[in-house]
Amino acid sequence: MDAAAEELDIVIAGGGISGLATALALHRKGIRSVVMERSEALRATGAGIAILTNGWRALEELGVASKLRQTALLVQGIGEARCLKRSDLIKALAEDLPPGTIRFGCQILSIKLDDLSYFPILQLSNGKLVRSKILIGCDGANSVVADFLGLKPTKVFPLCAVRGYANYPHGHGFSTDLVRLRKGNVMSGRVPIDNNLAFWFVVQRLYPRDSKAFKDPELIKELCLESIKDFPRERIELIKNCDLNSLSLTTLRYRAPWEILLGRFRNGCVTVAGDAMHVMGPFLGQGGSAGIEDAVVLARCLSQKMNSVGQLASNASEDHILWQQIGEAMDQYVKERRMRLVWMSTQTYLTGKLLGTSSMFVKLCILMVLVLVLPSPLYHTRYHCGRL
Ligand SMILES: Cc1cc2nc3c(=O)[nH]c(=O)nc-3n(C[C@H](O)[C@H](O)[C@H](O)COP(=O)(O)OP(=O)(O)OC[C@H]3O[C@@H](n4cnc5c(N)ncnc54)[C@H](O)[C@@H]3O)c2cc1C
Repeated sequence: MDAAAEELDIVIAGGGISGLATALALHRKGIRSVVMERSEALRATGAGIAILTNGWRALEELGVASKLRQTALLVQGIGEARCLKRSDLIKALAEDLPPGTIRFGCQILSIKLDDLSYFPILQLSNGKLVRSKILIGCDGANSVVADFLGLKPTKVFPLCAVRGYANYPHGHGFSTDLVRLRKGNVMSGRVPIDNNLAFWFVVQRLYPRDSKAFKDPELIKELCLESIKDFPRERIELIKNCDLNSLSLTTLRYRAPWEILLGRFRNGCVTVAGDAMHVMGPFLGQGGSAGIEDAVVLARCLSQKMNSVGQLASNASEDHILWQQIGEAMDQYVKERRMRLVWMSTQTYLTGKLLGTSSMFVKLCILMVLVLVLPSPLYHTRYHCGRL
């Protein structure tokens, strides 16, 4: 055993939406965890995020729904839907955690299992080692934890998304619904956050020239205006009006539905949640909510199997029992989540392929599959992840 290694009960890799939601869900069940986030501060890239009925149910379980509801208008026509500022969501999840839960500047480089106990040992970028009883990988689409589990690297649609806010100090006067418009392979959407702030996005083909724009908001704006030059004036004005600081350009990644159906999402006491498990195209507006649902289900499964992770782990024979119980809890979590995620990833995969192809034949085939195979258009919002 390495004498220098720090011992922790539960480590969550990544302090994005799903990492923070998982830490909060565990905290609500009286279970302590440590979130290791490689950035130096909380990040909220992407301006706004739509949370649909199922996402609000999960946020209710985490006890943060009421305060978040006050920050955003109700969007008409799709159950309870609101578009939140990402920073509001991240802040609401983080501020209810006990002090010291999040460690910034803490990147996990690699993971191995202890030869004797089979619990994970983490190698950090600052040279330190951490031994933990449980590791939950919420480290996004390029996850080291998913890598450790043997999951295939996530793939990229030939598409990118530009997102931002436009601020109207005297009120935008937009209707409170999600307005989407598609011309060829470009899709644009607009939804109000409150009476002054509107979130917009443009999904378009990804061209090699776009890679130059990733970190340059002026260039992102220019490219975006170029792609929507045939759109109505109101849509062009929205982008001209945008807050440059809120702009981001993102390539769209996915984990294929068949990989979600067959993937091994647990090894020993290590599992994944959020985009690390199921990154999907943004076409349903569900990736973030699915990560919050993961958090509720995982914390419920873990808490049902163990009352106190720390106490059980006092000697080698108890370690063995603990290892088994954690494994059973994680298997239950994966079982509960798998088919829910397969359906959503199938729909987003097909929609991404539809937007990414120029072949009319392929488009027609995809449309037929979408109509024939998938349940009603809003089936994904009716899901309830259950009580925490
Ligand atoms: C264009 C677009 C629009 C979207 N719109 C919506 C929407 O309207 N509604 C919705 O619900 N979802 C939406 N999504 C999906 C949603 O944004 C994601 O599903 C969600 O942000 C994923 O959160 P996460 O915490 O799993 O991953 P991330 O947000 O990627 O967070 C991962 C965190 O882990 C950290 N990290 C990574 N590696 C390590 C490491 N080795 N060690 C330590 N830390 C590490 C990163 O710094 C990061 O903070 C959209 C996505 C896109 C691309």
